[in-house]
Amino acid sequence: MFELPALPYSHDALEPHIDARTMEIHHSKHHQGYVNKLNTAVNTYPELKKKTVEELISDIKALPEEIRTAVRNNGGGHYNHSLFWTIMKKGGGGQPQGALADALKERFGSVDKFKEEFGNTAAGQFGSGWAWLVVSSDKKLQVLGTPNQNNPIIGGSGVPILVIDVWEHAYYLKYQNKRSDYVAAWWNVVNWDEVIKRFEAALS
Ligand code: MN
Repeated sequence: MFELPALPYSHDALEPHIDARTMEIHHSKHHQGYVNKLNTAVNTYPELKKKTVEELISDIKALPEEIRTAVRNNGGGHYNHSLFWTIMKKGGGGQPQGALADALKERFGSVDKFKEEFGNTAAGQFGSGWAWLVVSSDKKLQVLGTPNQNNPIIGGSGVPILVIDVWEHAYYLKYQNKRSDYVAAWWNVVNWDEVIKRFEAALS
């Protein structure tokens, strides 16, 4: 059975940028809901219960047709949130260093230009979805947006190393309709050490 991973920090760790109540509901209700529905979807398929969520969503077409949509939505939701929690931390933010900073400069012109493109993708994603920084199969950095609980694993577009949730449930209590304000504040909680770790793993 799939399980809700514990948050690697307390609900109020990301205050004031992300409020404690939002974190509590987002993790214990929304993410738990995706986990529960994923378990329901695979419940009658013992061989699928042995796979990781990444294995399930990386080849949706290989799944029984009757559970493809449920696994895309809820397996995607479980994968996306599990990653999202780890790329944030208390006292995060600042600037990426080292090889990632160099690669961002080479690809986007500067770290600030990367942040601008990523932020525009996040703010401009129509409806519910996510913005991503991925390492594509040719080892290039790429910013992309996905609707609903889709992601680069489902789409086969690369290894995600940074992600922001722009569903309204991620920010509405504190920011209401001002998604751009949430995205701007979110940079203050980014865990660049984790992003760099994922970047190096994707290159190796
Ligand atoms: Mn969410």
